[in-house]
Amino acid sequence: MAKILDGKWVREEILKECLPRVAKFRETYGRAPGLAVILAGENPASEIYVRNKVATCQELGIHSEKYTPPGTVSNAELLALIAELNRRPEIDGILVQMPLPKQVDSRAALEAVAPEKDVDGFHPFNTGRLAAGAPGPRPCTPAGVMELLRRYEIPIEGRRAVIVGRSDIVGKPMALLLLHQHATVTICHSRTRELAGECARADILVAAIGRPAFLGAGFIRPGAVVIDVGINRLTDRAQVESVFTGNQKKLAAFEKSGSVIVGDVHPGAAEEAGAYTPVPGGVGLLTVAMLMVNTIEAAERRMAGA
Ligand code: NDP
Repeated sequence: MAKILDGKWVREEILKECLPRVAKFRETYGRAPGLAVILAGENPASEIYVRNKVATCQELGIHSEKYTPPGTVSNAELLALIAELNRRPEIDGILVQMPLPKQVDSRAALEAVAPEKDVDGFHPFNTGRLAAGAPGPRPCTPAGVMELLRRYEIPIEGRRAVIVGRSDIVGKPMALLLLHQHATVTICHSRTRELAGECARADILVAAIGRPAFLGAGFIRPGAVVIDVGINRLTDRAQVESVFTGNQKKLAAFEKSGSVIVGDVHPGAAEEAGAYTPVPGGVGLLTVAMLMVNTIEAAERRMAGA
């Protein structure tokens, strides 16, 4: 039976460790670490993410501010808001929630955030630091995966790690983080030949492609550690029945809400693994926790003048 790597437990451990750091920061500097979140336009999924981020700040006593410019916001207006937040001394972290409205230049917005306030780790200055293995904020989702591997004491050094997906927010930084921990890293993507064969060689397999239940039987080496980053919502009954054959609980959940969430790894295939992160209940819970860590670290670094 494959071991389940419980994202909820890891999340709680991370948040528990944040509490004394926030208290110490407050005691030392007379204020809480501060995070500003910009949510431009209306996007129901982004609204849920932002609500979750703000609620977690409240849980930890981190000061948070939410800015909601309209969907018609111009580039200049957004850049002016970011510039203002860059100037404010009590704001340690600035998060620009993606996706931005179409007329806005997302890259310009990310690059406008002062690197020392970039809690997503997306600014080129910080991606450079990541590539160089220098300290700095790491993108939250792959950083969460590293925390999960560490807390479950999963060895990385010398292991074969295969990452499927090469996005700037998950795949690429994930590969670098594992490489820095001395894994032998392979990055796969949509042009990779013999994807199943590449995956089947992995000791640690990270799936981050956004394709429901795509990595199936034959992709997973028995005993491998499988990290499923994918979050895919299934709304089609036939697809749900084919992915979750015989799983009455999932089928009942679909009947009730009209959709179910599945990762990039087929739930049946995950059972071949030695250990795996479930979806939901795995990696998805760690991103916001790591955002809190990045915010606290940005605050500590800024105040220490590092
Ligand atoms: P992107 O769409 O930006 O990137 C997907 C990557 O997967 C691309 O590199 C693409 O290759 C590759 N890919 C797509 N199809 C295939 C295929 N058939 N075979 C091999 N590779 C393929 O996605 P993200 O990285 O943003 O997200 C990936 C998944 O992770 C999504 O399900 C997303 O919802 C989830 N996610 C979860 C988070 C969390 O847990 N909090 C946070 C962020 C993402 P190519 O480059 O060649 O196009």
